[in-house]
Parts: sequence; C-alpha cells; structure tokens
Amino acid sequence: MVTRFAPSPTGFLHMGHAFSARMGFDAAQKAGGTFLVRIEDIDTTRCRPEYTEAILEDLRFLGFSFPTPVRKQSEHLDDYDRALDRLSLLGVLYPCFCTRKEIATSQSAPQHDPQPPTDPNGPNHPNGDAPVVYSGRCRGLSADEVNTRLKRGDSYALRLHTEAAEGVLRDFGLAPLFFSDAYAGTVQVDPARLGDVVLARKEVRTSYHLAVVVDDAIQQVTCVTRGEDLLLSTHVHRVLQALLGFQMPVYAHHPLLQDAGGQRLAKRRGSLSIRALRQQGFSARDLWATLGLPPL
Ligand code: GLU
Repeated sequence: MVTRFAPSPTGFLHMGHAFSARMGFDAAQKAGGTFLVRIEDIDTTRCRPEYTEAILEDLRFLGFSFPTPVRKQSEHLDDYDRALDRLSLLGVLYPCFCTRKEIATSQSAPQHDPQPPTDPNGPNHPNGDAPVVYSGRCRGLSADEVNTRLKRGDSYALRLHTEAAEGVLRDFGLAPLFFSDAYAGTVQVDPARLGDVVLARKEVRTSYHLAVVVDDAIQQVTCVTRGEDLLLSTHVHRVLQALLGFQMPVYAHHPLLQDAGGQRLAKRRGSLSIRALRQQGFSARDLWATLGLPPL
C-alpha cells in the first residue's frame, strides 16, 4: 500500500488538509505501507517555495513522518513531457487558441453533475483551468489554420480530445473503463465528463491532470486518498492512465471537512491555518482532538 498527500504550495495548510493527509497516513499505517508527500508546484504564478517549507514543517509538527526528499513536480518536467509525447503520438491532443475570456463566454456546465466544482481557485484547478466544460471550439480548426497560428507564435493550450481518446480506448479493447472508490463504489468512467481538459500549455508543458497521473504512476501509488471535490477529475485521470499504459490505483475520495457553519474549509473563507493555530499555542494533540482523532 502506497498512499500520498499532494498539496499545492499556494498557502498554509488548514485542518482540512490535515484531515486529508491523515486519511492517507492511516490507510498506509494500517496496511504496513508507505505514506508519501508530494509537492504540486507546477503553477509558478501561485506556488511559493516558502509555502512548501511551511507545509512540510506543519506536517512534521502534526506528527506525520514521510520519506524525503519529497517529490516536487517542478523538478520533473521531463517526465510530463514524455507522457505528452506519447499522448500526441496517439492523436488524442489538439491545440486550443481560445483565450480565457472566450472560454468563459462559450463554455457549458458539466453534464449530469449535481454538484459541479465551482471554485476557480480550488484544488480542481491548480493550473487555473476553467471549472466547467470547454465547448470544443478549436477541435474544428483546419490543419492550415493551426499551422499558421503556431508559426505566428500564438499562445495555446493542448487539450485532450475526448472523442479521439474514446476511439483509441475502444480500439485497444479498454473501454469501458472503471475505477474503484472506497466511498463512491465502482464508478464507470465517462471520458467526456469534464470535457476536453487542458493537459499542457505552450509555456507550461503539463497541467494538474497530467502531472498527477504521471506522478502517481512513477511513485507507484496504489491508493489515492483525496477530497471528494476531485472525484470528477478521476474520470480524466483514469482515461490518461489507460492511454499511457499505467497501473490503476484504488481511490478514496473522502468527504470534505466543514466549519461550524457547514462551509467547506478554505483559505479564502478565512479558515485558520495550522500555522496560526500553532501560534495561538495549540499543540498537535489539541488539533487532532478537534477532529476526534488521537495524536500521531
Ligand atoms: N494538488 C491538489 C491540491 O492541492 C491535490 C491533488 C490530488 O490529491 O490529486 O488540492
């Protein structure tokens, strides 16, 4: 059993993060396995090295132990490039030249989603991906137009062509795909669920979706524990795993911790950071007790 906690260093950890990390830690402990920490820092506009240091320090304060050095995504861009090349060879990528503004006005909501992820700064969107489905507008560009725009140096995103991906999976005899989740049960994958997500940009050769799938495979993670807000992303991740020939982990998308008012904990809602709680004199034991959990 290999589990992991994979925070993005865009701020200090709060108790929601501690709870999520604890889920992974306890699952690994129970099975005599390994708990890993991974720093998801590909978004250089929002991630800061000082938060990485603070996160690792707060985790140790809480009593977590984990192998070091921890993997930092920013140090492994070649791994994502290789995966991107393989996807490109399969013909499941296309360049999208739409600006963020164009996307915002032309997109539609994800289908059949009772609780779409609506938080543009949430963990679902560490690269600033729009939280709703892209219309697919650039799928229809002619090869000539694509070449002209690439030559001109236009900015672009590389998107997963979900229809093409479905075709490849069918040809390989891999469809339909499923994943197994400790909370949601066996889930049949709908490759189009999040639409044609961004897998890389001209300037940043990976996105959250690609990096997380590549890292979990390289680190041989067997059980992915994370918040239920990422359940929809797992549809995309499962497709990428199958296209790239990676092993499938099992999943445990746990409920998100809420504050007394029933709101999900989040930095920008003023949830207190573990750092702030430490400064107020709370011990690790006190903090775990607030969640009804014994100290580590
Ligand atoms: N890096 C993401 C976050 O900070 C979590 C990704 C994952 O667990 O798959 O929320």
